[in-house]
Amino acid sequence: MPDPCDVCGAAGDMRPLLEAALHGVGAVWIRQCAGCGFRQVRPRLPPAALDVLYGADYFDSAAAHGFAGYARQRQRYERDAYFLARELRRIAPAGRFLEVGSALGFLLAALAPITGWDVEGVEVSSFGAWYARDRFGAAVHRGALEEAGLPADAFDYVLQKDLLEHVTHPRRHLEETRRIMRRGGRLRVVTPNGEADLRPLHRVSAARENDDLPRLGQAHLSFFSRAQLLRLFEDVGFRVLRLRSIGIRRGLRALGVVPGWRSRAPMAQREAPAPRGRPAAAEGGGPTPAPWAEQAARIDAEVAAQHRAVRSWPPYFHYRRLVKRLDALPGRLAIGQDFDLLVEKR
Ligand SMILES: [Zn+2]
Repeated sequence: MPDPCDVCGAAGDMRPLLEAALHGVGAVWIRQCAGCGFRQVRPRLPPAALDVLYGADYFDSAAAHGFAGYARQRQRYERDAYFLARELRRIAPAGRFLEVGSALGFLLAALAPITGWDVEGVEVSSFGAWYARDRFGAAVHRGALEEAGLPADAFDYVLQKDLLEHVTHPRRHLEETRRIMRRGGRLRVVTPNGEADLRPLHRVSAARENDDLPRLGQAHLSFFSRAQLLRLFEDVGFRVLRLRSIGIRRGLRALGVVPGWRSRAPMAQREAPAPRGRPAAAEGGGPTPAPWAEQAARIDAEVAAQHRAVRSWPPYFHYRRLVKRLDALPGRLAIGQDFDLLVEKR
């Protein structure tokens, strides 16, 4: 049965481009659509693989994979929430906000007290959803967006940062996103520039001297170009209001345009046994699994150790935003590490 391209719908086989190693899964192929050039890990990962990928250690600085820097960035989310609250206020005094991929809930926790909007999250990691509820009392649905069963036409603003590249079915995911949004509602997406993501992997792969594979350390499954993103969002039923390239300095290094690129794609042995997934986590009223409590305590300690008063000071927020703006360009110049899109539901 053909599995059509998410971007152009072509049903033909995607041709193999690069073999890589994915934590807990093993060797995977990044393939390319002959119709539109879209690159993606195929065949798509089964749900069980996602449970292993986004186990409790995904947010652990000590782990060899995953979003290890997350706990260190606690205060960055205070800053993001500060500007997001202003953006929401400009739209309406109240509304319904959803963050898909809410991770440990840092943004939700920072946003809820400073906005008149209802704030909710969706998170695929059982540990992440539990942590956000336990530590912050955040309203987080556990699972993929398609599993959350959210009502139609409900949300006025949806945020998806560093998410689209992780989902197994990007088109289906965006269709579900659109379904739960009210008409005219806004969706903000930050997702990598696929070329900046893949160029280092190609370099590592070309330079290898044995059978080892470049490691897909961040578990990105889709690699979008600017044109492919525009096509996909328009096709699903969104109007693109803005598309910017952000992270220009990192992007230029990853693309090899300027020197200074450090290998962020270490090699993995092809035969390395896949680590076992953690036991299924307790949901709802069940007891907290002991490894979770330990992991959560470690994250709390890391957050506390990283805290600096100046980083919670609004003038510092504005300073950091200025620095970030100087590191952004119109999306036509696809030389950043990421794309930053703002779209609305048609
Ligand atoms: Zn295609």
